Amino acid sequence: MTSQRTRLRLIERLKAQGIRDDRVLQAMSETPRHLFVDEALAHRAYEDTALPIGFNQTLSQPYIVARMTELALQRGKPGRVLELGTGSGYQSAVLARVADEIYSIERIKPLLSKAKARLRTLKARNVRCMHGDGFEGWAEFAPFDVIMGAAAPETIPQNLLSQLAPDGFLLLPVGGSEQKLVQMTSTSEGFEETIIEDVFFVPMREGVHR
Ligand code: SAH
Repeated sequence: MTSQRTRLRLIERLKAQGIRDDRVLQAMSETPRHLFVDEALAHRAYEDTALPIGFNQTLSQPYIVARMTELALQRGKPGRVLELGTGSGYQSAVLARVADEIYSIERIKPLLSKAKARLRTLKARNVRCMHGDGFEGWAEFAPFDVIMGAAAPETIPQNLLSQLAPDGFLLLPVGGSEQKLVQMTSTSEGFEETIIEDVFFVPMREGVHR
């Protein structure tokens, strides 16, 4: 059930859903999603569905992971990516295959500990994780080519924009019960907003949880 064949079926489904970028399809086919959920759920890891990871959080649906990764690559291979909400670590593991350096922040400590262990097992050495509040970004490693996340703030956190590289962009779901995936691109004349599509993510919450 966690075989290469099952994984390839997932890739075929992603293609049918419109994911075209070979770098993304390759990265998804090489990343074992079943390692990012509890054993009892591993048999469902290659279904196109979000799965619970505890603390009322979910590992995003494969389609949305692929879509966000594809968007992250729109300007070529990113150098530094800041991810808000490590969760299970799955999106980080996929990103690790297509970008140079991943910096990932998670506010719930036990989730972060598990994610770190999985990333170690997979030898994703270009991922650095931190327990903290994503709303604050990670100034020490700024600027980032891409800032992205799978938790929705009510509005775009303006202070994060200052951690973007010139020509960098932020990609976040924004809103409450109705959310849009929004891209804010840094340009010489300021920030340009693009609405990508309707989405549904868990809310981004302030502060940390031990
Ligand atoms: N991409 C993740 C999905 C995780 S769900 C995966 O592949 O598994 C979103 C995650 O964002 C949750 O783990 C949640 O705890 C975290 N989160 C919510 N608000 C946050 C914040 N302010 N800072 C950091 N992480 C946050």
